[in-house]
Amino acid sequence: MTWVVAKFGGSSMADAKAIRRSASVAQNRKANVVIVSATYGTTNQLLELIDIALAGNENKRDQLFNDLYNRHLSIAQALELSDEDSNQVHELLLEIKALAKGITLLGDYSFRAKDNLLSHGERLSSIFMQKALSQCLDQEVLLVDARKIIATNNHYGSASPMIEKTAKQAEQHLVPLLKSGKVIVSQGFIGLSEEGYTSTLGRGGSDYSASLFAEAIGAKLVEIWTDVAGIASTDPRLCNNAKPLKEITYKEACELATFGAKVLHPTSLWPAMRKNIPVYVGSSMEPEKQGTKIVLEAQDKPLVRAIALRRKQSLLTITTPRMVNTHGFLQNVFRVFAEHEISVDLVTTSEISVAITMNESSAINESLLQALSEIGEVEQEKDLALISLVGTRISNTAGLSKEIFTQLADINVRMICQGASASNICFLIEENHAEDAVKMLHRRFLESEFANS
Ligand code: ADP
Ligand code: ASP
Ligand code: MG
Repeated sequence: MTWVVAKFGGSSMADAKAIRRSASVAQNRKANVVIVSATYGTTNQLLELIDIALAGNENKRDQLFNDLYNRHLSIAQALELSDEDSNQVHELLLEIKALAKGITLLGDYSFRAKDNLLSHGERLSSIFMQKALSQCLDQEVLLVDARKIIATNNHYGSASPMIEKTAKQAEQHLVPLLKSGKVIVSQGFIGLSEEGYTSTLGRGGSDYSASLFAEAIGAKLVEIWTDVAGIASTDPRLCNNAKPLKEITYKEACELATFGAKVLHPTSLWPAMRKNIPVYVGSSMEPEKQGTKIVLEAQDKPLVRAIALRRKQSLLTITTPRMVNTHGFLQNVFRVFAEHEISVDLVTTSEISVAITMNESSAINESLLQALSEIGEVEQEKDLALISLVGTRISNTAGLSKEIFTQLADINVRMICQGASASNICFLIEENHAEDAVKMLHRRFLESEFANS
C-alpha cells in the first residue's frame, strides 16, 4: 500500500497554466496515478453540442464545435505537444465533430452514443496532463486508457463499476508499471461496459474513478484536487461564512455528497471506504492551504458538521384509499419507478398516500405518470429544494428539530425525513427560499454557540 492517486477536476484543468500547476501539485505530492477530468466546462459544452445537433441547428453546432476545437488546440500549443500527440488531439476533436453531425443526420442518439461523445473530454485532457507531468518529472509518465482498467455494466450515463474485474485489470495493466516506477495518467469519468463500449459513471464521476483506481491498486491515499481548499460547512458559493472542515467522516461526507454538495460525486467514497483508504480534498490553486481529511472517525463531533442543498427537486404523491390494510402497495409503486429506470430519493408514507422525491431532471414522463395513476391519484410538485443537515450526532440529540424549524418558521416545509440515517436530517422546501434557509441554518448551527456544542 504505497501508491498515491491524485485526481484533478475540471477547474484544475482549465487551461495550460492550470494544467501545469496541477502537474506540479502531483509532482510535489508524489502521486503515482493521476486521474483527470475534462478541461473546465467541456462536458457541459459537449452536452450542449448534443442538444444543438439533435435540434438540427447546424450553424450553432459548428460554432460551438469551433469554440471547443480552438480552446483545446490553444492548450495543445501552449503545452508544446509533440506532433504525434497534437495529431491525436486533432483526431479526437474531429471525431466529436463527426459524431455531432451524425446526431443531426439521424435526428436521434442513444445513451451509448452520448457516453462515447462525452468521453472525448477526458480523453483529450489526459493527453495534456501526460505532457505537463512528463515536463516536470524525471520518471517516465505513461498515459493508460481508463477503459482498460475500469469495467462497468451497460447502464450508459451512470454505469456501475464491476469491482473484481476492475481489480484484475489493474493488477494486470497498472501494478507492474507502478512497480517499475512509472507514473500513470488516466481519464476520470469513463470506463468500458460489459458489451465492450465506452461508458460513463455519471456527472462528476471522475472523483469516483479516482477512488476506484485507488481501490483496485490498493493505494494508501486518494487526493481530490479541486477549486476550493477542501470540504466546507456549506457550499462557499452559497454562503460567505462557510468554514473549511479539517476532518469529516466518510459517512458524513457521503451524506453531504448525496444530498447535493457538488464537491464530491455521491458514490465516490465507497471504494475508498471498502479498503479504508484515507481521502484528502484540497485546492490545486492553493495546495499549501489545509484541506479536508475524510476519515473513519473524526476527532471533533459537532452536532451539525455541514449543510447541503440540492436544487431542482420534484415531489410525486400517489394517493389511494386502497392502500389501507393491504400488502404489496409500495412494491407496486416502486416497481413502476424501477421499470422506468428512475432513481427515487426520499420516501414518506401516510395511511393512504406515499410521497417520493427525485431530481427534476429524472425522466418523469407520461408513461411513468400513466403507470402510477393506475395505482392511485398522482400529484406532481416542482421547483422544490432539499436541505440536509449532516453530523454524526443528529439522530440522538433532543431538541434539534425544534431548533431547525424555529429558524424556518416563515417557510413552508413540504416534507421531512429523519431516521433512516443516523447522521442526517433533511427536508423539502420551495426552491426560492432555499438559499435564505441555508444561510439561516448555517448562522444558527455553524456560526453560533451550537458550532462548539
Ligand atoms: P471539480 O471540477 O474539481 O470536480 P466541482 O465543481 O465538481 O469541482 O466541485 C467543487 C465545487 O463544489 C466548489 O467550487 C463548491 O462551489 C462546490 N461545493 C458544494 N458544496 C460544497 C462544500 N460543502 N464544500 C466545498 N465545496 C462545495
Ligand atoms: N467531466 C465530467 C463532468 O463534468 C466528470 C467530472 O468532471 O468529474 O461531469
Ligand atoms: Mg466534481
